[in-house]
Amino acid sequence: MTLLEKDTYRHKGLRKELVALLRKKGISDEKVLAAIERVPRHLFLGLDNIFDVTAYEDKAFPIGEGQTISQPYTVAYQSQLLELLPQEKVLEIGTGSGYQAAVLAELGAKVFSIERQRKLYDRTRDVLNELGYKSVKMFFGDGYEGLETFAPYDKIIITAAAPHIPEKLLYQLMLGGQMILPLEIEGATKMVRITRLEEKEFDQEIFSEAAFVPMLKGKVF
Ligand code: SAH
Repeated sequence: MTLLEKDTYRHKGLRKELVALLRKKGISDEKVLAAIERVPRHLFLGLDNIFDVTAYEDKAFPIGEGQTISQPYTVAYQSQLLELLPQEKVLEIGTGSGYQAAVLAELGAKVFSIERQRKLYDRTRDVLNELGYKSVKMFFGDGYEGLETFAPYDKIIITAAAPHIPEKLLYQLMLGGQMILPLEIEGATKMVRITRLEEKEFDQEIFSEAAFVPMLKGKVF
């Protein structure tokens, strides 16, 4: 059975309910909601049927190597803050399960995604390939370094809590480009959006609190 054949009408029904819940929780971008409705989240959780139903609850979930797939609300919220236009180049830090990357791909973005854990990188590359997400390019590396080769990016999304703003990433944004990141500020993790206004001038907006695994330095082989 191919992976896609494991996406049944029952799963599609559960996704409709999840979308209704996200709408109730305040997600209002219809394109984001439509993308969430299309991506088979249960196939990103490690391929075990046990996870089928819980995949569509609004919860984070362990994906191995001490990491989690972000809560659907958080994925939707970060995606909404990105205000993506089709064909925009997006750099994602923390591929993890690949679910957020798939949602961005469904929104029409060209996604470059970096993961620092080799095992997750290998597994997720296979899943994204099998599901046919050709507009997601994956890289094994340290997100603090970014990905200079394909810079500049219209948008950057960090999906792990950063202890400080990674400086190299700021300079891989286009002028007018934006970065969304969970940032540690005074003991709490807050969602932050940074806009590159000029060569060396940035604007910062602070949004609500969020829970994330930490953004760590270096690679794990
Ligand atoms: N976007 C993911 C969320 C995974 S959790 C998803 O949709 O499932 C955050 C991920 O960030 C973890 O896989 C973790 O290994 C990775 N990570 C943490 N620090 C990193 C860094 N410096 N560079 C790249 N990835 C990092």
